[in-house]
Amino acid sequence: VVSLANGKKAFGDNEVLKDISLTVNAGDVLAIIGPSGGGKSTLLRCMTLLETLDSGDLSYGDLTVCANDAAGRAVYGGKDVIAAAKTRFGLVFQNFNLFPHYTVLQNVTDALICVQKMPKDEALARGRELLARMGLADKESMVPCDLSGGQQQRVAIARAMAMNPDVLFFDEPTSALDPELTREVLKVIRDLAAEHMTMVIVTHEMGFARDVADHLIFMDGGVIVEQGPASEVINNPQHDRTRAFLANYD
Ligand code: ATP
Ligand code: MG
Repeated sequence: VVSLANGKKAFGDNEVLKDISLTVNAGDVLAIIGPSGGGKSTLLRCMTLLETLDSGDLSYGDLTVCANDAAGRAVYGGKDVIAAAKTRFGLVFQNFNLFPHYTVLQNVTDALICVQKMPKDEALARGRELLARMGLADKESMVPCDLSGGQQQRVAIARAMAMNPDVLFFDEPTSALDPELTREVLKVIRDLAAEHMTMVIVTHEMGFARDVADHLIFMDGGVIVEQGPASEVINNPQHDRTRAFLANYD
């Protein structure tokens, strides 16, 4: 579904991604964990085209987003390629990032109507179906600030799902939520995993990562220190840095 080979990114002389390669296959759930500043968000931002890689090959299915030239610099495809790539993933941030003046339903249907040019009736029907799946059927006319953080995050997930993406990326989707709201958002993500939605999730919820993710990557200092089946890495980490990090969580 998505693959990155030898991804590198620096801000000035701060090398934030040093040589990252990963592949996410259809139906996989990949969790990414690691200490603050390790490059997790930058990796997600590069994969979702909010940042450009300095070097590396990124592709969504058969679509090559960027590839190295002879000098080892990432060369990106043109506008059409970027636009096509952007239809293949959805992204959910820590802080919900909803449009504050739109209703819940408008937040979910906006891209369908304005970007995908879907007929309005069809878009509204799809938006309502997604809101129902998120347990928000009765909230469609409200504005985001009248919802709890957990409800807002579920709207953000419905919005990310609207374009029917091949893969959903989450950057610490529950970090801004208290434990009860965290649980309700994690339940929605668990349900998506049970339906074999392909997902990449940066999280500090280790129990959730162990239960829900197939594969897990521990990132620190811009490199993948350790990876493997999620339960194996969490229950039996092989590297000192992974062990030291996980010791903060039990
Ligand atoms: P956290 O767990 O705190 O979210 P993270 O693993 O997501 O951390 P990043 O946000 O990717 O880490 O940051 C990695 C490094 O890149 C940090 O040193 C950060 O200061 C730097 N960085 C990130 N974005 C930028 C930017 N736009 N300009 C300059 N430096 C940046
Ligand atoms: Mg981050």
